[in-house]
Amino acid sequence: MTRFAYARPADAADAVALVSADPDAAYLAGGTTELDLAVKDGVIAPTRLVDISRLPLHEISLIGTATTPILRIGATATMERLAAHPAVAARLPLVRLALLAGASVQLRNMATIGGNLLQRTRCRYFRDAAEPACNKRTPGSGCGAVAGPARMHAILGASPACIAAHGSDLAVALTALDALVHVRGTDGPREVPLSELYLLPGPAPDRETVLRHGELITAVDVPVPLEGTRSTYLKVRDRASYEFALASAAVAVVVRGGVITDARLALGGVATVPWRARGAEELLRGERPGDEAFRAAAEAAVRDPFTVPGTEFKVELARRTLVRALRMTTGELS
Ligand code: SF4
Repeated sequence: MTRFAYARPADAADAVALVSADPDAAYLAGGTTELDLAVKDGVIAPTRLVDISRLPLHEISLIGTATTPILRIGATATMERLAAHPAVAARLPLVRLALLAGASVQLRNMATIGGNLLQRTRCRYFRDAAEPACNKRTPGSGCGAVAGPARMHAILGASPACIAAHGSDLAVALTALDALVHVRGTDGPREVPLSELYLLPGPAPDRETVLRHGELITAVDVPVPLEGTRSTYLKVRDRASYEFALASAAVAVVVRGGVITDARLALGGVATVPWRARGAEELLRGERPGDEAFRAAAEAAVRDPFTVPGTEFKVELARRTLVRALRMTTGELS
């Protein structure tokens, strides 16, 4: 039985103070990740859980201007509430698709947006406390996945030290849209572009984000794409539901006069962090939609992969996933 103290602070400042003061404390919101890891898997052992689920951080609202609207999402808004928001249904279909593909309805009703972005990897070596080799769980112990079965692992941003794929579908969609994360720490608030939140494993896979211990995500701002933007989130997996991605693609494109004038692309399921494909975006701008341009973009998006036996197939799978998502958004495929 894992024992931990439980605290329910009155406001965000109290929550930050409590966690910051205790190196073994952690936040608890929907509990869909934290309780799994602490209670069921025994992978983490917080001595104090600070419950933020009842703090007033759950609002979802449109801010900004009529021409540049921004969707502000409170960190404790649930996945289900965000998926059902009218602005998401009307203007952010890739976000809605990523949310619906990301979890069962039961989980979506509990899991929060902040927790979803900070979820830990599903690497089974990481989640099995009896597995001795995992640099992320036990720094310096090696990586069991590099030499073992690794079908669900990453090929981009990976290294011999860690090939764990990031598990969030939502983070992939929000990375494509240049979302901005609002964070609060003991020094006050700060903002972090989502594309800069996550750290590549490098030599220290246990350090996953730029957040300092005790810093709390309070909200996420998502710029709403221009009118006329077409977008989708395509997730390829071993079964149709309740499964993590083998590969996924978030695509938002604008086509005017038969030419792609803007493209935002990100990949999931194949990278250690949500993977923005800026080089591929550049290749698409000014091109006519079609397989030649899409394939060139896909080749650029999946460049210099790091594969191990079991993950080689993901190179071509990721490229084909991106091509198919581009076909879907540009009308080349219904
Ligand atoms: Fe651990 Fe990363 Fe290797 Fe998985 S891939 S065993 S998380 S070091």
